Amino acid sequence: MSMGISPQVYDYCSDIEHRLQERFREIDHVAECNQMKVLAAMRKNRLSEACLVPSTGYGYNDIGRETLEKIYADVFGTEDALVRQQITCGTHALALALMSQLRPGDELLSPVGKPYDTLEEVIGIRPSNGSLAEYGISYRQVDLLDDGEFDWDGIRAAVNEKTKLVTIQRSKGYDSRPTLSVDRIGQLISFVKGIKPDVICMVDNCYGEFVELQEPSQVGADLVVGSLIKNPGGGLAPIGGYLVGTKECIERAAYRLTSPGLGKEVGASLGITASLTQGLFLAPTVVKGALKGAIYAANIYEGLGYKVIPDSRESRHDIIQQVIFHDPDLLVAFCQGIQASAPVDSFVRPEPWDMPGYDAQVIMAAGAFVSGSSIELSADGPMKEPYAVYFQGGLTWEHAKYGIMMSLQKIYETGKISLDQKSL
Ligand SMILES: *Cc1c(COP(=O)(O)O)cnc(C)c1O
Repeated sequence: MSMGISPQVYDYCSDIEHRLQERFREIDHVAECNQMKVLAAMRKNRLSEACLVPSTGYGYNDIGRETLEKIYADVFGTEDALVRQQITCGTHALALALMSQLRPGDELLSPVGKPYDTLEEVIGIRPSNGSLAEYGISYRQVDLLDDGEFDWDGIRAAVNEKTKLVTIQRSKGYDSRPTLSVDRIGQLISFVKGIKPDVICMVDNCYGEFVELQEPSQVGADLVVGSLIKNPGGGLAPIGGYLVGTKECIERAAYRLTSPGLGKEVGASLGITASLTQGLFLAPTVVKGALKGAIYAANIYEGLGYKVIPDSRESRHDIIQQVIFHDPDLLVAFCQGIQASAPVDSFVRPEPWDMPGYDAQVIMAAGAFVSGSSIELSADGPMKEPYAVYFQGGLTWEHAKYGIMMSLQKIYETGKISLDQKSL
């Protein structure tokens, strides 16, 4: 076949797709509601052509930037927002959030276990220049219980007079714990506020935006943080991060990002506002495609006998899918399939390499219009047991579907699996 998919792979995948129509309709419904939410915020704030014009220099009175921030605040149901290309990535947005709210002597608490890898140096779990630890900010962590539940007793015992901010990571990221639903985040926030009402509850919302009808800011979070080259940038944002939350939290963050006194008043858009705004407009639809892709892959690989997390039926709270192969050849083949299906760099053949900071080789597949963008179809995994691939994204469902079929094609070509008896 011209697209490189053999009939056995195509037939197996088509069977799976047909059985997912009910599931896909639910996802369509969430996307439709979120599209209306975004559109309503754009209309309410009178988004106009003038908003899309670049500003330079200090960027005072940049109407496009100010309007986009009001739109974000309305979409997330918060008092205020900081949405900037001067925030370089998700880690930067999270570091900004933590460093702006915490003062020497304060304590940071994570009641959901170890935070995302890159935050270890921010917090000082691994010593680093300028970490929170260097500023005399201590850190405490309460792990989830073995069954994934919150350790309510442990959390109650950990909150003390120094506890200033509680950080809650929604997505499991590259951990093996479950991703938190917005409902569960709400329960956790109520519990923490019941113990200490004035504690700031912050949520790392990376990969979670628009997956559900509500965002964590609508269930009590004071501050919600994420990356624009993931879900809310809709694939169009070329850079950036966002913080949404209470007026005080956002002011502290803005004073830290630019300068005390200047805050949100400066920050030229340089012409990027149009992409950030249009990206937000597309985000609910893009997330819809990525979610369908994740569920499709879960069903395809679970059907072949591999463990997948989340499993084929679980409800979804982020766009990440994990497939566990226990076989290095299959992990490599999967990534090569994702790469071969990419719109950019499809001719590149990914190989495992020694990535700095990792104790095993890592293989990565990405062929993205925006470098490193993980709302675009991408996959990676460390070359060690259990040889698990993490994959996410897809700007359209049609592309996600083709990419996943291609991953199976490359696995099929290893000769290690048979599809003949799999047709149901
Ligand atoms: C991606 C991610 C981050 C960090 O974002 P970068 O843009 O890669 O710096 C933090 N937390 C979670 C849960 C993420 O998925």
